[in-house]
Formats: sequence, C-alpha cells, structure tokens
Amino acid sequence: MNTLLPTSTAGSLPKPSWIAEPETLWSPWKLEDQQLVDGKKDALRISLQEQSLAGIDIVGDGEQTRQHFVTTFIEHLDGVDFEIRETVKIRNRYDASVPTVVGPVSRPRSVFVEDAKFLRQQTDQAIKWALPGPMTMVDTLYDAHYQSREKLAWEFAKLLNDEAKELEAVGVDIIQFDEPAFNVFFEEVQEWGIACLERAIQGLQCETAVHICYGYGIKANTDWKKTLGSEWRQYEEIFPAIQASNIDIVSLECHHSHVPMELIELIRGKKVMVGAIDVATKQIETPEEVAATLRQALQYVDADKLYPSTNCGMTPLSREVARGKMEALSAGASIVRAELTAQCVG
Ligand SMILES: [Zn+2]
Repeated sequence: MNTLLPTSTAGSLPKPSWIAEPETLWSPWKLEDQQLVDGKKDALRISLQEQSLAGIDIVGDGEQTRQHFVTTFIEHLDGVDFEIRETVKIRNRYDASVPTVVGPVSRPRSVFVEDAKFLRQQTDQAIKWALPGPMTMVDTLYDAHYQSREKLAWEFAKLLNDEAKELEAVGVDIIQFDEPAFNVFFEEVQEWGIACLERAIQGLQCETAVHICYGYGIKANTDWKKTLGSEWRQYEEIFPAIQASNIDIVSLECHHSHVPMELIELIRGKKVMVGAIDVATKQIETPEEVAATLRQALQYVDADKLYPSTNCGMTPLSREVARGKMEALSAGASIVRAELTAQCVG
C-alpha cells in the first residue's frame, strides 16, 4: 500500500434487508435459486460501493455471499454432516448446535473464488478476503472422526491453503484468517494453532493477515467481556508467537476495549490493523475519537505499518450505523495522516 494509514474493515458488513433479516447473525436467506445467486452479487456490489463512498482504502466483499464467517466455508466441505448435530460450547463461552465431522474432510471445489473474481472485476482498489482460521473452524464443530482438535485443524489448514492460493490467483491482495479462538485457547495456540496458521499461508505471495478479536457485539460476547476484568491481557499470551510467525498483518481490537495499548509493542515489526471502531455499540464514533485511538497506537506501531480498521465485523449493526462508522474511520485516519505528513514536511 502506498497510502499512509490505509483504512479497511475487519470483514463482515450488514446485508440489505431484501436478502436477509438485518441485524441478525446466521440470518437465513430470503431469496432462492437463481434469485439468490443474483441477489448476492447485487448485495456485494452495494457493499463495495458503500465502502468506497465512505473512503475505505482496502475493500472487501462485506461477506455478503455468506451466512456466517465460519459455517459457510464448512458447508462447502466433504466429511462434515450438517444433519447430525451436537451441542458444544463454542470458545468456552456459549452452547451452540453444530454439525459433525463424520469422515476425512476435503474441499471438492473452491468456495469463494468466483465471488472474489467478481469483486476483483468491480474495483481497482486493493482487496482483502477473509477466511476462517483452522482453530476457529475446529471450535465450531463436533468431531466424531479425527477426535483430535490438532489433527482436524491441520487438515483444515491444508484445505484453507488450497482455497487461499486460488484467491490469490484471481487477484486478492490480502488474505485474512479470522482466529477469535486464539484469544481463548492460549496453550493450543502455542502447541499447534500457529503451526496450522503457517500451514494455511504456506507458499502464498500475497499479503496475509490474522484477525484476533473479542467477537461480535452479541450478548454472549458482551457478557463474557464483563468477566475479563479491567485489563484484557489475552493478546500478551499469543503475540510473541505471532510475532515470530510469517503472518504479515495482525488485525486486533483496540477502541473501547480494555486491551492495554502497549501490548501492541509485542508485535513490533508486523503491520497492524488497529481496531479504531467499536462494533458492540450503535453509537457512531467521532473522527476525533478515531484519531485519538490511532495516535495512541502510533506509540507502538510504526506509521507505515499502521492500518486503521474496525474491532470486528459489523454484520449485526444497521446499514446506517455501519456506514457512519466507516465514514468516521476514514475521517479519523485523514486527521492523523495530515498530522504525520505535516511532521514529515516540517
Ligand atoms: Zn472479529
């Protein structure tokens, strides 16, 4: 990126109400068959236009073609039975009825490559594509086959790598792996989480990112956050290992969270997508609030490696609020960009 402080979002954005129920996770589609195929493309076009108009520099598909950031990828795999469901605790936090791994997992065909190709045709801007991370995928399933989180994650990592290589080939600039589970299972991150992430990015020439957050602004997450105390030091457990990995970019939660900003120092040298937008509130940040968060982050991230972003996806918010937040992000980044440029000149 040649732009200083290039802005982006973590990934998901609200869908139009004609395609899925707004402000809802796992919202079922309102269209069917060819209408749904066409509708997803139209939703993607709108989402892209909203990002561009809001001044976002690195754009994405707003995850308009998927129902959920983990489940949709898994739905396209063989070896997972969505009819056989078990209730498990996701991220040690909330019960969910999940599909079952019944045999060896494989990816019979690409999942998002056609969507990414379509997005690439619509814009000359840099594009980022999000995929679920191996550990987060494992944590969203019941495994009756491998009976080992590590083995299953390794198999997923290989499938994700195949998908990522195809995304790169159609012109995706940054491939991001969403690993909110990294903030919960610290020992597993060290034992096999990072190794699986490295397997997922193996051989990629495009930039790679990992997104580690405290989740969407849904009740199970906000309740959990209340139990974490006044300082959230989860990143401290995992950042040294991430720093030593080959991942280029780390996307993390900052604004309004209780993460001590100095923890970012632990990944000095990496590019950092700093969450300067709180996705757990409908209140739209002012550009000055965004700028204040970015200025703080600049103490721990070199200016050429700071990428202003959102704390997490914005799919549970209204479109109006999400638009306002993206505009605030751009405006806040502009303020700090001007300050940095003035310093350079002066
Ligand atoms: Zn997130």
